[in-house]
Amino acid sequence: MMNTTHAAMGVASAAPLAFVAPELAPAAALAGFAGGAFPDLDLLSGQHRRTLHFPVYYSVAAFAASALAVVATGPATVATAFFLLSAALHCVTDAAGGGLELRPWEATDDRGVYVHPASRWIRPRRWIRYDGAPEDLVLAGVFSLPGLFVFDGAVRTLTVVALAVSVVYVAVRKRLPEIETRFLR
Ligand SMILES: [Zn+2]
Repeated sequence: MMNTTHAAMGVASAAPLAFVAPELAPAAALAGFAGGAFPDLDLLSGQHRRTLHFPVYYSVAAFAASALAVVATGPATVATAFFLLSAALHCVTDAAGGGLELRPWEATDDRGVYVHPASRWIRPRRWIRYDGAPEDLVLAGVFSLPGLFVFDGAVRTLTVVALAVSVVYVAVRKRLPEIETRFLR
């Protein structure tokens, strides 16, 4: 799944807060956006979907941080909880996408996301065939609705920018391996 799809999911997860605790919702949404984007920083260094992808540890940490946010409610604790929740959601849903191959639409790789406590890879389900697939864009669009219509300000701006990036990414996705190969040479 695209990084922007994960970020939009993080924002969407904070949408209920806009109705029950509107003063905390923007911080939660921004943290959700950041937490959704964060794990893919391991594309820059380390092993992608392993170095910064922790489906189990983020989930456990999100659970603890949520409990703390309930007991000591404030922007910092709520933002921490949503950051971790969104990062956990990212790593779990990565298993619903494609593998790590250069051309994931060829479906030749069986690494979806790494589960550290089990020391093994979870296989990709390919319900979303690959990151940047048309169905990925649909998903990003649906999860962007709260960012567009429930929130305003920075959250809405970020959502618009992320959607624009998604459209471009999906349009050029299948040409990226060629560019990447040429660039690495
Ligand atoms: Zn990822």
